[in-house]
Amino acid sequence: MPLAGPEKISMISDLNHFSIDKPLQDTLKYYLGKATGLEPLGEYIGKVVYELAYHVDRRGRPELIMWDLRGDRADIVWLDPMERRVVEDLMLVYGLNKAPFSDGSWHEHYAGINLVGDPGLACIFTITIQTAYALWKYAPEEIRGYYKNLAGIERPLMLGATWFTEIQGGSDLGANTTVAEYRNGKWWLTGYKYFASGAGIADIALVTARIPGSRPGAKGLSLFVVPRLRTDGSLNYYVRRLKDKSGTVAVPTGEVELVNSEAYLVGDADKGIYYTLEDLMVSRLSNSAGAVGISRKAYLEAYHYALHRKAFGKRIIDHRLVQRDLLEMELLTLESLVITHKAVDLFEKSTDQRPPYNQDYHYARLVTHIAKNLTAMNAARVTMLAMELFGGLGFLSEYMIERWHREALITPIWEGTSNIQALDMLEAIHRKRAHEPLLRETTELAKESYSKETSQSALNHIKETLTTMAEMTPEQVEFNAKYLLEDLGHAYTILLLENMAEKLTKPVYHHVASLVQKSLLARKPLPDPGTTVLEEIITMQGALPL
Ligand SMILES: Cc1cc2nc3c(=O)[nH]c(=O)nc-3n(C[C@H](O)[C@H](O)[C@H](O)COP(=O)(O)OP(=O)(O)OC[C@H]3O[C@@H](n4cnc5c(N)ncnc54)[C@H](O)[C@@H]3O)c2cc1C
Repeated sequence: MPLAGPEKISMISDLNHFSIDKPLQDTLKYYLGKATGLEPLGEYIGKVVYELAYHVDRRGRPELIMWDLRGDRADIVWLDPMERRVVEDLMLVYGLNKAPFSDGSWHEHYAGINLVGDPGLACIFTITIQTAYALWKYAPEEIRGYYKNLAGIERPLMLGATWFTEIQGGSDLGANTTVAEYRNGKWWLTGYKYFASGAGIADIALVTARIPGSRPGAKGLSLFVVPRLRTDGSLNYYVRRLKDKSGTVAVPTGEVELVNSEAYLVGDADKGIYYTLEDLMVSRLSNSAGAVGISRKAYLEAYHYALHRKAFGKRIIDHRLVQRDLLEMELLTLESLVITHKAVDLFEKSTDQRPPYNQDYHYARLVTHIAKNLTAMNAARVTMLAMELFGGLGFLSEYMIERWHREALITPIWEGTSNIQALDMLEAIHRKRAHEPLLRETTELAKESYSKETSQSALNHIKETLTTMAEMTPEQVEFNAKYLLEDLGHAYTILLLENMAEKLTKPVYHHVASLVQKSLLARKPLPDPGTTVLEEIITMQGALPL
């Protein structure tokens, strides 16, 4: 009797998720100028990781174990053994977090996060690489070397975490009250972290705290590294409980109680908020890449389902409205992909920057806000349409597709909500003048584009948006900030797609850019591009032809 495999509940579980993803390959080639060789990872994702994420969500929820066999507090989180294995494989065999700290690129790391897709699983790698980045760049010599364990370069493998949010505010980090005191040559932290992903599995965590006498608000925060165990081997903090979440199940998120917890100061005490915001760029890019992965997997599930399901005497993919939905989903997914890797590219070029930073860094931050907002919005819409294409089955939790919509809904919330991205975009423009490099670069992009007309119109849109912002009162500009952020996202993406079409000599990216311009940017109905272009776009990811 054949064993029932994941193919019974998914349309794409056995495919190589990298080999089929031609747009991801094109995007990496566009930014890196070479192929990346992510096929083995794509194979492992399709064959093992995809099913594992589904299984953990339904049956393998992490559990908090508070007491050990001796009756002492343990506060460890049990992960499904298969999940533990997959985390180790992805880190040590496939080197998911390795590239940026060896001879590779951040693009490869984020392409890996995209392929993983599942935001719970991806979060484990994200909070670990965030910790590695802070250690590598700012930590004192006595603990700096651990970045290699967090990157999977050296064994034993270590996991990291980033705990900033407290009950009185996540957006408002300045409201943090966790205290750091210096006694007997060491730092000791006391406070309560309300959303702590990685609690119970992380070996070390980055934690914000306030040194008595420091400035009020966010500028008075310092950044610390807190190990799970004290130097004498005892437990360094307690995990009060795990959150019961509607998604992101693969990563345990707990409430952490710091009680005189041993800590190490990261960098200068008065620059903690700058290090924290820089580290948040690493996770916001991850959120963007993960949102692309969620969109892509939901799209592929829906596309393959539409090839098989029949209604009114023909396959649903042959119905015009279904083709239109698939077209919209693909446009949104491609937008998310190219803007994410643009932000990654700028981040990579600014990693040598330190506070007070130069304009390259602020520009990278601006484009990260644009990407975080656009990709999250797009993932929510793509997964909603994908569920609808599955009809009633789309609403059943026994199939893969329903989970993707639940998972998409975290992307506009954590790592700073979309509102916070919009406010930070205003800060980057008004206080750091980050729009100046944006204008310079988009002007250059427009010069080398497949369609000068489409590019010029997108460039004009960026200029008009910035002028409108300058002419509005502060109240008006804040009221419209999220709308303006979205506008910048669509317009910038059009320029990138046109540039890609020209450089890779692939006119299909021009067709995509032109449709984005006429519909998403213009906020008008999607025009019918004709059968040939439509088919070319909706089969771009290597799915079977119509
Ligand atoms: C599953 C999960 C895991 C998480 N893991 C972690 C983690 O590991 N570490 C960590 O530090 N945090 C973590 N978080 C916390 C997360 O980052 C915060 O929930 C998020 O940043 C929002 O903060 P908040 O929940 O306090 O919402 P609030 O700050 O209370 O915001 C509520 C609403 O008000 C809006 N708002 C707030 N201020 C403004 C403003 N000035 N203008 C306009 N709108 C505003 C927000 O956009 C939001 O819509 C996690 C959250 C979740 C759900």
